Amino acid sequence: AASTARAAGGADARGAAICDDAGVPVIGHWIDGATYAPDGGRTSAVHNPATGAVTAHVALADQTEIDAAIASAERGYRTWRDYSIAKRQAVLFAFRELLEARKGELADLITAEHGKVRSDALGEIARGQEVVDLACGFPSHLKGDYSENASSGVDVYSLRQPLGVVGVISPFNFPAMVPMWFFPVAIAAGNAVVLKPSEKDPSASLWLARLWHEAGLPDGVFTVLQGDKTAVDGLLTSPDVQSISFVGSTPIAQYIYETAAKHGKRVQALGGAKNHMLVLPDADLDHAADQAVSAGYGAAGERCMAVSVVLAVEPVADELVARIRDRIGRLRVGDGAGGPDGEPDMGPLITGQHRERVAGYVDIAEADGAKIVVDGRGYTVEGREDGFFFGPTLIDDVPTTSRAYTEEIFGPVLEVVRVESFQDGVELINSGAFGNGTAIFTADGGAARRFQHEIEVGMIGINVPIPVPVAYHSFGGWKSSLFGDAKAYGAHGFDFFTREKAITSRWPDPATRSGVDLGFPQHD
Ligand code: NAD
Repeated sequence: AASTARAAGGADARGAAICDDAGVPVIGHWIDGATYAPDGGRTSAVHNPATGAVTAHVALADQTEIDAAIASAERGYRTWRDYSIAKRQAVLFAFRELLEARKGELADLITAEHGKVRSDALGEIARGQEVVDLACGFPSHLKGDYSENASSGVDVYSLRQPLGVVGVISPFNFPAMVPMWFFPVAIAAGNAVVLKPSEKDPSASLWLARLWHEAGLPDGVFTVLQGDKTAVDGLLTSPDVQSISFVGSTPIAQYIYETAAKHGKRVQALGGAKNHMLVLPDADLDHAADQAVSAGYGAAGERCMAVSVVLAVEPVADELVARIRDRIGRLRVGDGAGGPDGEPDMGPLITGQHRERVAGYVDIAEADGAKIVVDGRGYTVEGREDGFFFGPTLIDDVPTTSRAYTEEIFGPVLEVVRVESFQDGVELINSGAFGNGTAIFTADGGAARRFQHEIEVGMIGINVPIPVPVAYHSFGGWKSSLFGDAKAYGAHGFDFFTREKAITSRWPDPATRSGVDLGFPQHD
């Protein structure tokens, strides 16, 4: 009742329901199939990173809102789990069609709050749509097994059932794609999802919630709970939330994994990364330079699969660095929404605070003796002087003991480390804390095959810089890039979001005689 009373009639394009005293929109939650306007309470600023302006505030859930969200999801689950497969599939296909028709609106929201260029926002949506397509085919993935006559007159079969209310907690860098790694499969399998998006770019989730509503999803099956640690902890500790799917930085991923497990939940927690690209001397250096620049500076380096270190096997390092530097000189940095000169190649960072953090890592590399080949510190864009821009940066000869090498920077900073051999490169990659993605660039199939065998990383590219698996495979790293044993989407996704039941059944048969037998059943 509370949510109905507070559900706003007229929301703006973002779903922001009310304005604060200064006339700034306040972005609320999505509970029970409606915008749930915050009733005072804590909020956090949402910026347009290209202009630096505060464009909205987002509600940070308190315990009352957390309870309302979970209770509504529980009700939604009880309705949804009993929908026939055909009816569930119809809703998924309707969602798929609406998303395809209206994805431009979503791309605008992503660019306005995240800052990435609009074509890249459409690219992230496309990768999410792949998972929606996968989920539309869920009946084939969720069929059980059947063994007739396992013993005389006895059949054994299994079926998969949803978990119930499942929590998804997502990072700022893919406000649409990362939630879509999980919720299409979770919903297809009959669960109700409570999504806690990043408070830095909360509007994409609300937009997706409204789309589900239009597609005919029953109220409560998709809930958006805006917030920070309080909302996260509410999901982690609630006895009514059955699983947690998290994507974000490694320290938080570890906290999520431990806390959710302690509260008896199934959990998958994907963490940070430091992805290396190993370039062998026989590689096509122009191709390698093109790929290093695309994968290093796309989305301003704010991708968990971005290439952040180029390992150049001598004697090609000088030549490779020169070719990368040339290409950086041609990159255009600006407002991701475009301008009179069209769309730039790269937009701003997410916040001013993050820009300082990225600059801090360049300072560390410099102090540790690395060579700053292209320096993006202090970069400004004309007409967008208050935007959170950071220029593409190239650092050569980074000492592998430097924190600028061992830690994730998450900005447009490409580091070059020179190694003497293939084996030195492999050992360096395997010695790192992370194991998300890596790539080898070579013309030697034997070397590539040895690389894929020896490397301790979850996703590998061979002459492919960002090897994000397609939706029907699964996404996930090794070591501190993934806590838990279930990756995102693909077969792992269907396993994670269902519980299996095995049934052993015997029906009376007029031809067989019954009798008491205290022994363990014999196979007959
Ligand atoms: P983050 O860890 O700061 O935040 C992720 C989520 O956790 C957000 O929803 C946030 O509100 C919440 N959160 C933050 N601090 C918390 C705390 N103390 N307790 C509980 N919850 C908390 O990550 P981010 O800055 O939003 O995203 C960038 C990070 O995500 C990078 O490290 C990047 O590598 C990683 N990432 C990983 C993958 C992957 O697939 N492995 C994909 C995308 C991003």
